[in-house]
Amino acid sequence: SDHNPRGNAARGWALHQAASDVIPGGVNSATRYVGHPYAFAGGDGAYVVDLDGNRYLDYHAAFGAILIGHNSPVVDDPVRAVVGTIDLFGLGVTELEVELATRITEVIPSAEMMIATMSGSEATAQAVRLARATTGRQLLVKFQGGFHGWHDAVARNVISAPELAYGRDPLSAGILDSALDSTLIAEFNDLGSVRALFEQYPERIAAVILEPIPHNVGALVPTQEFVDGLRTLTRDQGALLIFDEVITGFRHALGGYQEICGVDPDLTTFGKGMANGYPIGGLAGPRSLMERFDGQKGDVLLAGTFNGYAIGATAAIATIDHLRASPDFYTRTHALGERMRAGLASIVEEVGIQATVAGYGGVFSLYFTGGPIRGYRDLMRNDNQAYAAFHRRMTDAGFLMIPMSLKRNHISGAHTEDDVDRTLEAAREVLTGMKAD
Ligand code: PMP
Repeated sequence: SDHNPRGNAARGWALHQAASDVIPGGVNSATRYVGHPYAFAGGDGAYVVDLDGNRYLDYHAAFGAILIGHNSPVVDDPVRAVVGTIDLFGLGVTELEVELATRITEVIPSAEMMIATMSGSEATAQAVRLARATTGRQLLVKFQGGFHGWHDAVARNVISAPELAYGRDPLSAGILDSALDSTLIAEFNDLGSVRALFEQYPERIAAVILEPIPHNVGALVPTQEFVDGLRTLTRDQGALLIFDEVITGFRHALGGYQEICGVDPDLTTFGKGMANGYPIGGLAGPRSLMERFDGQKGDVLLAGTFNGYAIGATAAIATIDHLRASPDFYTRTHALGERMRAGLASIVEEVGIQATVAGYGGVFSLYFTGGPIRGYRDLMRNDNQAYAAFHRRMTDAGFLMIPMSLKRNHISGAHTEDDVDRTLEAAREVLTGMKAD
């Protein structure tokens, strides 16, 4: 594609060419190239600037890793203070690690202990292994459209129309057949589909893992009956319930979606927004389960040279403290999200295009298909090309949305009502133009 973001991408193209010589595909994570190059030079609050000087209002937010805003002094100042003093020791523990784990146990309803990893994928890998160790069972149930990282245990059948999201199912070549065979797929918001798997594989399922709101296909909001039902079913069947709160955690509430829905999972994974852009992940749960990681008394390996490293721990502590000290963070971002969704819905109606607005809290998605969207199956009708056109035109207008058609956009603590209103104006123009074409 020769599409140039905002008509001015000479330096972005040049860097992309140079990158393609030394980095496969020119990017360090597959979904960062979407047919035209992006090369960013910096960010500030709700905005990012590319190498060619184009400024975008950022709703991509690094897949949600930016929660408070880009380069927020709230997080960056304490990080600066730690650089040059505490780096890495490989023995024992730092005060920072204890402070972080303590905060997690204070704010996450189901957490009594916590381990720190470097990424969300590592956290879900540890959760799945712990579930297998604890139950002595091998099988894992996940949901269509749920994404839990890049490792083998969660690579299967992410989406039954792969062209809509990741382009491949399983996610990658080179996955162990036994890992794929050990992953069973259920339908979100369909408790019967989970019950059927427990009936088909009695006493063989170690855990059910889910994004409590599957944001990797936009936003399917669970019914209360579904999350309550999963809790009861897994408990009755002797399997663990794992909430992957890598996106929902800290973003929708300080205590994650588990605080909102009132369901305590056995294990919870974290990542992304938890440290406002600094790499970190975490796994939390009750003492009885987490103590399996104890190197003296336990039998599950917890290892990682960089686990609990000072910058990530500092950034997470600062992020959590900021959220704790500003309860209006959630009222604000939820209200802005509501304003965005309501505005988009009325524009869709006014323009007369086939689209459905979804989301939760500060997260919003625009599906190019009619509603209602109850579950994953309804998303299979989505018009991928229409979303691509919407994305391209919004980018050209200076509004950076997520490029994949079934994902989501994020309102951070730095977005304002005026930002939302200007986005809605642009969306009205873009959708009107698409309708006219
Ligand atoms: N779980 C969920 C719900 C995610 O969205 C992601 C990342 N997209 C992961 C896990 C993996 O996290 P990471 O990219 O930090 O490994």
